[in-house]
Amino acid sequence: MATDTLTGPTIVGSATRAKVYKNFIDGEWVESVSGQTFENLNPADTRDLVGIFQRSVKADVDAAIAAAKRAYAKWRLVPAPRRAEIIYRAAEMLIERKEDYSRDMTREMGKVLKETRGDVQEAIDTAYYFAGEGRRLFGPTTPSELPNKFAMAIRQPLGVCGMIAPWNFPMAIPSWKLLPALVCGNTCVIKPAQDTPLSTYNLVKVLSDAGVPKGVVNIVSGFGADAGAPMLEHPDVRAISFTGSSSVGRTIGTTAAQSFKHCSLELGGKNPMIVLDDANLDLAIEGGLWGAFGTTGQRCTATSRIIVQKGVYSEFIERYVERAKQLKVGNGLDESIDMGPAINERQLISDLKYVEIGQSEGARLKCGGHRLDSGDLRHGFFMEPTVFVDVNPKMRIAQEEIFGPVVSIIPCDDLEDAIEIANNIEYGLSSALYTRDVNKAFAAMRDLYAGITYINAPTIGAEVHLPFGGTKATGNGHREGGLGAIEFYSEWKAVYVDYSDRLQKAQIDRVD
Ligand code: NAD
Repeated sequence: MATDTLTGPTIVGSATRAKVYKNFIDGEWVESVSGQTFENLNPADTRDLVGIFQRSVKADVDAAIAAAKRAYAKWRLVPAPRRAEIIYRAAEMLIERKEDYSRDMTREMGKVLKETRGDVQEAIDTAYYFAGEGRRLFGPTTPSELPNKFAMAIRQPLGVCGMIAPWNFPMAIPSWKLLPALVCGNTCVIKPAQDTPLSTYNLVKVLSDAGVPKGVVNIVSGFGADAGAPMLEHPDVRAISFTGSSSVGRTIGTTAAQSFKHCSLELGGKNPMIVLDDANLDLAIEGGLWGAFGTTGQRCTATSRIIVQKGVYSEFIERYVERAKQLKVGNGLDESIDMGPAINERQLISDLKYVEIGQSEGARLKCGGHRLDSGDLRHGFFMEPTVFVDVNPKMRIAQEEIFGPVVSIIPCDDLEDAIEIANNIEYGLSSALYTRDVNKAFAAMRDLYAGITYINAPTIGAEVHLPFGGTKATGNGHREGGLGAIEFYSEWKAVYVDYSDRLQKAQIDRVD
């Protein structure tokens, strides 16, 4: 939870103990020229001040971009395998620091420890993967139409890349952006989310310790309009990579388009999980719980709609709700906890508002729906795991991204009906089907209109070497992870070498 130190609540006594974190620009840790800071509070216990961060403004962003531009002149010429070695070293360092960084992350965003360990692990996996890419970055050679002429396509870096990240995977998502950009030879300016700057700071620190030269990676913390927006119009930024909500993404995309920047948008989701009559119900129930309530429902891939065939509908609901009620909610630093808090008060209020909306729309609230504020929980933003049943797919709770621990269960007649419900939505990130029928599985893999489909697994759990991203309002067609990221952070150049020693006109001008 980010609190503006100028206007937000005063944390009595703790401010003096909290560490002040600076921006990293041109290889130096520096304060914002604004002279202002903001507080990073633990959403599980707002008495815990995690750190004080720079409230950056345009002048800080401009300085970071200028440093990245200077550094680009040399970094682009470092052979890719050498760039990759630094990334490999960063992976090894992340392993050593994994436990500390996971604890930092649980403190700043509330996600339970076993999940923040996974977030750091995702950055480690990403680093190993893109370190390997340093020895590939393949481009095709192809025969020329003319004799004694050689033709190939090579990948070139873009230049300075601006990156804007969300809070829900505060190390993994920045790693998806920074590491492929670096191995391709770009330099970077990243603005972490204001709720979770520490985890991105930790990643940048590792990269610096691993040997990334000064100016190649820069971090500027702060709020979107002050520290994110200035990248969008800056003439020296060649690419913008944004992950966040669809509403902010729309602004980012239209602004970046004015100066023809490459722009990757990874946005919201409203992910369906279909359970057919022939499914392994034990598996579907456990998957549906993990998908809906993991990260307190605050994953872009969270299972937020469970579409269940009528033959198993009643049994599924009964058993699913029973299990949801057993989930232990609390401070994620306690290893026995299943679900942490909402990221901040605004998100909690919004989650509770959706409970009211669902009830007013006529959906049946089967469990949860309330804030949890007894004992120490009153210092955090906790809410019960919440299940709505008999949801009509047109209801707002079944159409809008809630980004909290609220799941809608929707009845369906058969696979065809389920796919119709699943696809009839603004978003298209992830999707899942539980069945034992291979024919139905393949039909769903073809017909679910989403960037990701899981069979017999919930909607969450992406692996770093596969493309990550979605259709429709979930993005603009780019993919993070795997080769999709290399595609985004490099630009094709076609190269022709004529070794005939005479003028060969273009093949279209050839006279046979
Ligand atoms: P958000 O859109 O509120 O903020 C994302 C980032 O944009 C933050 O760093 C914020 O400071 C910055 N920002 C806000 N306004 C800006 C502006 N005008 N100019 C420049 N930057 C601006 O999203 P959030 O609340 O941090 O994250 C939750 C959202 O992210 C959800 O919608 C979720 O689905 C989405 N998400 C998508 C993916 C994906 O890969 N598809 C992954 C994770 C999260």
